[in-house]
Amino acid sequence: MLKDKTALVYGVANDRSLAWAIAQAFSQAGARLVLTYQGERMERNVRALAETVPGTLCYDCDVTNDDEIAAVCANTDRECGGLDVLVHSVAFARKEELAGRYVDTSRDGFRIANEVSAYSLVAVTRPALPLFEKRGGGSIIALTYLGAQRVVPNYNVMGVAKAALEASVRYLAADLGPLGIRVNGISAGPVKTLAARGISGFGSILAHVEERAPLRRNISDSDVGQAALFLASDMSRNITGEVLFVDAGFHIMA
Ligand code: NAP
Repeated sequence: MLKDKTALVYGVANDRSLAWAIAQAFSQAGARLVLTYQGERMERNVRALAETVPGTLCYDCDVTNDDEIAAVCANTDRECGGLDVLVHSVAFARKEELAGRYVDTSRDGFRIANEVSAYSLVAVTRPALPLFEKRGGGSIIALTYLGAQRVVPNYNVMGVAKAALEASVRYLAADLGPLGIRVNGISAGPVKTLAARGISGFGSILAHVEERAPLRRNISDSDVGQAALFLASDMSRNITGEVLFVDAGFHIMA
């Protein structure tokens, strides 16, 4: 489904990252991968993962740094001659903002969460546009969560950042549709990852979903990978500006 396509995936931390599940689904479908990670702390992990998929490129990139994003795009262009798919799988909020009352969110905590988790979608998209243009269009996918639309205990400022991210998906879809670029979100159910562990009471969210979701189970990272493959491929060619829930149906329940 992605033969001869290039996919740039932001946000791999380790083998539990949703970004890695997505990258694996893409590579099994024939895509060439470009992965990014943040900082030396993650480098060894991510390089080891990249080595399992021949031809995969790997770059350090903090999405709050425009020079680093520009370097990722320049390297991708030089090595791959354009881009077909971009995945934004990045989020961050201070641990103290992911517990207690939303009303106690600090100005700085709000700024950081929104800059890293929401504005960064715009920041990584803009310099990628000339690369998409070389391929005559493409697909952008951002990872989001139900906390954008409903109140999830302790998700707090991250819910507000995800709401901004989902609105960004729609505004970007309107801007970029005429260039043949689609922009969609995947709202994933809870999955135990490094980022998820930072949310206070995450274990009880998993238990609640298993009990209440129509399908009576939690999702796996590969479910997200398969949904991303659909949104990356031509099978979803007339879908843009959408948020696709991959959550065993949990979001429909009152
Ligand atoms: P993850 O493996 O911890 O991925 C989050 C990634 O964001 C990490 O690679 C992290 O790097 C990166 N990141 C944070 N700040 C960054 C920055 N300034 N520059 C570049 N990268 C940065 O956890 P995940 O659960 O797979 O999260 C991926 C996405 O899925 C996030 O958008 C998350 O909100 C979303 N999501 C997750 C769930 C879930 O239950 N797991 C559900 C719905 C949506 P470092 O580790 O180096 O900081």
